[in-house]
Amino acid sequence: VTVAVTGAIVVAALLAAWFSHRYAWWRRSVDYDRPRILMYHMVSEHRRGAVFNKLRVPPAAFAAQLRWLRDDGWHFACMSALETPQALPRKTVILTFDDGYGDNLEAADPLLERYGACATLYLVEGRFDRDWSTSKKAHHDSGELMRERKLSDTEVESMLASGRWELGGHTRTHANLARAGDDERHEEIAAARRTLAARFDVPLTSFAYPFGIYGSRDIEAVRAAGFRTAVTTQEGIPEDPLRQALELPRIKVSGKEGLFAFRLRLRTGRRGA
Ligand SMILES: [Zn+2]
Repeated sequence: VTVAVTGAIVVAALLAAWFSHRYAWWRRSVDYDRPRILMYHMVSEHRRGAVFNKLRVPPAAFAAQLRWLRDDGWHFACMSALETPQALPRKTVILTFDDGYGDNLEAADPLLERYGACATLYLVEGRFDRDWSTSKKAHHDSGELMRERKLSDTEVESMLASGRWELGGHTRTHANLARAGDDERHEEIAAARRTLAARFDVPLTSFAYPFGIYGSRDIEAVRAAGFRTAVTTQEGIPEDPLRQALELPRIKVSGKEGLFAFRLRLRTGRRGA
């Protein structure tokens, strides 16, 4: 009996240690005056054997996140509201969607409507028939993201007309900016912004660096193009949204994590361990 009890205690202690390490639940909350920016890609069921299921938040999980945010008293805003952060209420959360996947309209939009939320869409201008995952790592050549349905221009128009979506820039080709020369950088950032603004007749004031890859020349190009905010894939909660306006960290929402991990990230801005 003693051996069994000791064994159970050891197992319980190991589980507690694993849980604490994984979720870091003891970490202090970051001040709720500081807005949280969430990064999403797709709202869809996972695909069997897929490489990018982390980027797929199942619709039921997305609904649970929005319901919790609403019930916990969060204020939904879009990126343009971050241009005057002093006007934002406590507990502001900003939803962002990168790339322009078809499910953003089919699956995410009805839930935004149900919970009174809005989102900023970082749209790749030339998003059709393009496998940008290989621009980051050559071995990411499965074509998985290329085959994923993208939003048509007509669909983007209807999303913008709903008032629930705001348009942001994410380059022309989802370029790896670290490899871009000056001309290419201009094409990807400033020219793509002009094209999208003209096509959809809306101002674009926010930008997302593809793959979260950027350098000082890219920041300058983003500023010169007229963007007032820019988001990265750096994990965290902005300390000073004005000072960091062109290098804003975000909270990555993983399709492989549950609501408990989501709530902790909203609190501390980071994954547990
Ligand atoms: Zn992207």
